[in-house]
Amino acid sequence: MNVTAPLEATDFVIFGGTGDLALRKLLPALLLRLRDGQLPTRTRVVAVSRAGLDDAGYRDKVRGALPEFVPGVTSGEIDDFAARLEHVCLDVDEPDDWHPLGDRLRERANPVRVFYLAVGPALFGTICHRLDEIGLVQPSSRVVLEKPLGHDLASAREINDSVGEVFAESQIFRIDHYLGKESVQNLLVTRFANSVFEPLWHATAIDHVQITVAESVGVGSRGGYYDSAGAMRDMLQNHLLQLLCLVAMEPPTQVAGESVRDEKLKVLQALTPLEDLDGACVLGQYTAGLVDGAAAPSYVEEVEAPSRTETFVALRAEVRNWRWAGVPFYLRTGKRMRERCSEIVVAFKPTPHPMFPGSEGTQEPNRLVMRLQPDESVRLHLVAKEPGPGGIRVRPVSLDLNFSQAFGAPSPDAYERLLMDVVRGNTTLFMRRDEIEAAWRWVEPIIRGVGARRPRPYAAGTDGPAAADLLIERDGRSWNEDVTR
Ligand code: NAP
Repeated sequence: MNVTAPLEATDFVIFGGTGDLALRKLLPALLLRLRDGQLPTRTRVVAVSRAGLDDAGYRDKVRGALPEFVPGVTSGEIDDFAARLEHVCLDVDEPDDWHPLGDRLRERANPVRVFYLAVGPALFGTICHRLDEIGLVQPSSRVVLEKPLGHDLASAREINDSVGEVFAESQIFRIDHYLGKESVQNLLVTRFANSVFEPLWHATAIDHVQITVAESVGVGSRGGYYDSAGAMRDMLQNHLLQLLCLVAMEPPTQVAGESVRDEKLKVLQALTPLEDLDGACVLGQYTAGLVDGAAAPSYVEEVEAPSRTETFVALRAEVRNWRWAGVPFYLRTGKRMRERCSEIVVAFKPTPHPMFPGSEGTQEPNRLVMRLQPDESVRLHLVAKEPGPGGIRVRPVSLDLNFSQAFGAPSPDAYERLLMDVVRGNTTLFMRRDEIEAAWRWVEPIIRGVGARRPRPYAAGTDGPAAADLLIERDGRSWNEDVTR
């Protein structure tokens, strides 16, 4: 079976083509899709930046960078890819710089043109308008916007308005790479292609849901941006809320067109405003500690300035609708945590009556644990009889599905999948304007409400501040221990 149907020949124009995102994620993804024959050989990649590089200089730069980011790539594969790369030196803010880009793209045009904006959002509007002015935007063109899409509702609207003056909504791809992860798509399949789960996917059977996105890295070189954003804007407003939407949404009529995005929007609109901020929201900031046995500096040392920016947030959300009434969604994300691990845990209610003698305390309620990283897997925690004579003793066991073991191949990177969806014009796994704005509408009052708070310190290499444990323990629950094991 052909699992990678060939796509139309495309001109990828990457604004920020010399940046970290392009070198680490976008170019490796394009190389792999070309190598596998999904992208035709006529594909071109035109990188744009202010660096005074000609095509040869850019190719050398990419040749030097790729081996680190594409494990096992051969020099022949890199040379083959590099031959498709071009570089245009252009300062977005200089109107006179733009004409060479127009000349390049017109001299040999492919049917699809993708403008990938891997630059700061302050440049999005200018880039779109300049592209329009020099006649490069066609009905088959698409624009990809990287996060962050603004820092509040007003700035997100401003960006959306500006980009929307040039591109139709169907041409705009707001990327959230979490949605391109194999395991996140598998969440849709687990829910909607297996008839056993959906009847249970309801407040009558589900006790609560946990979503954790834990990173072991600190802010590194992104300190300047991060200090003005914090965990709430950088992770919660987009990645965690998108995951919550996929868990909580009603079954879409199809996984295509607008159905999925329509259902996600309804979830965002049903989020209960968080009023009890003291009880339902914990902020933290890492201090110096040990991560993987190595000394890690504090956040303040990394950004080299006193700061009240949160590097950790945990909160208790509720979705106010028929399906989820009374079911808490515990969300947490942080940097410099014990290990890199992202999981969604659907915790089912306990059985109504412990009928096996001596099973109290050992009969854990069922849990469905969907691990997004580092190893993508789905695990269903059940209770089974311990083998042997002498009565029935019960014990927790798990049914494990590790994707790379089950299917014999590692999952492709999220950017590979998402970039191909951009070429196809399939917006299902991208955020629509109204989703972004609904997410900001819910998060913004929380950010304002906790604005004056000093985040609680937590040592690097731990699970966040103790108050985050209290947040969930107060409800008689605890964070899933698999999450940080
Ligand atoms: P970066 O390493 O700082 O790269 C920025 C790129 O933009 C460089 O190629 C830079 O090249 C170019 N650039 C900046 N100003 C320009 C201008 N006026 N005209 C033309 N080119 C200009 O940043 P990054 O990490 O790649 O991130 C890019 C964007 O993606 C940011 O908004 C970031 O928040 C977002 N993002 C990044 C990641 C990631 O993993 N890195 C993940 C998600 C989202 P010159 O300076 O040479 O012009």
